[in-house]
Amino acid sequence: MLTVNALAAPSATEPLVRATVERRDVGPRDVLIEISYAGICHSDIHTVRGDWGPVPYPLTVGHEIVGHVTEVGAEVTKHAVGDRVGVGCMVNSCRDCANCRAGQEQYCVAGNTGTYASVDRDGTVTQGGYSTHVVVDQDFVLRVPASIAHEAAAPLLCAGITTYSPLAHWKAGPGKKVAVVGMGGLGHMAVKIAAAMGAEVTVLSQTLSKKDDGLAFGATDYYATSDPATFETLANSFDLIINTVSALVDINAYLSLLRLDGTLVSVGAPPEPLPVQVFSLFGARRSFAGSSIGGIAETQEMLDFCAERGIAPEVEIISADRVNEAYERVLKSDVRYRFVIDVDTLR
Ligand code: NAP
Ligand code: ZN
Ligand code: ZN
Repeated sequence: MLTVNALAAPSATEPLVRATVERRDVGPRDVLIEISYAGICHSDIHTVRGDWGPVPYPLTVGHEIVGHVTEVGAEVTKHAVGDRVGVGCMVNSCRDCANCRAGQEQYCVAGNTGTYASVDRDGTVTQGGYSTHVVVDQDFVLRVPASIAHEAAAPLLCAGITTYSPLAHWKAGPGKKVAVVGMGGLGHMAVKIAAAMGAEVTVLSQTLSKKDDGLAFGATDYYATSDPATFETLANSFDLIINTVSALVDINAYLSLLRLDGTLVSVGAPPEPLPVQVFSLFGARRSFAGSSIGGIAETQEMLDFCAERGIAPEVEIISADRVNEAYERVLKSDVRYRFVIDVDTLR
């Protein structure tokens, strides 16, 4: 057992504090990773604040992890000491159900093992990446291509794959009009990836304050959702809408922006239900869908795609002591566009 430094949430209402977590001994198929950077995903905030239900406190969150391999088990073949690697939102799955066999471990019918707040095979609660080291089964560890800057790589492991997967599934590409709702951590990656796939991208943000950035990330249009005229101008326009908003929005208003057979995919995960009027769907045979992260093979494909296309997240690196302040800024939509913890400041 390895005891390592971490940041932990003691409860839903207290700030994160310095703590330690236990990592299991490196098993035959395990990799020990010395973590360099950990991204701050809005899901970390939803989780520690109890938005989604009961939490096993104290809890260390973080599922955008990048670092180097420092030890491998005897049977490890996929990674070697010194390799630059990443870990995303899951660290295991049953590997036997139809979805796991299809490479869709995120949809494991037995439930995947989350990087934090899940019950691990040994019965302990998994603890996430706001910590100096983690031990992970080799099959759930990704190779990070050399051309992706080390400090920018971490957010790809959640924000990158969560937007890449639905964009690929619903075939964003040349001739397709894609809208991205909310330009935070996920949203800015959705814009960059959809544009790189060849789609025509429109950003729907609360205000026009980030318009220049959105256009620089590859969008051709940028509209404020606070302006009611936006919903008239853009009615029946899009093939695909990716909703990344962390809070409740009027989903029917966004559905009205889909053209015939268009799909609105919500990846944003507000605690409240998103009520849908069926008539919002009837009008143009529209679909309302959800999507959860991506499989391991698809995550590797996304990393390689981003490396080839020179796509990287925009990050603001912070020390461990600034995490609580960063959480408040994310909650105010004051993020440009992902906070990443320099884990050296935890050593
Ligand atoms: P984020 O950085 O906070 O971005 C969310 C964006 O939504 C904000 O930047 C803001 O964009 C917009 N927004 C926030 N509050 C709003 C409100 N009240 N009304 C309208 N727009 C609002 O969060 P994130 O890390 O990208 O995560 C976004 C959501 O995705 C979270 O709910 C998270 O839990 C979820 N998530 C889901 C998955 C999955 O697998 N499905 C994976 C990761 C995250 P503008 O300033 O541009 O308006
Ligand atoms: Zn996440
Ligand atoms: Zn499974």
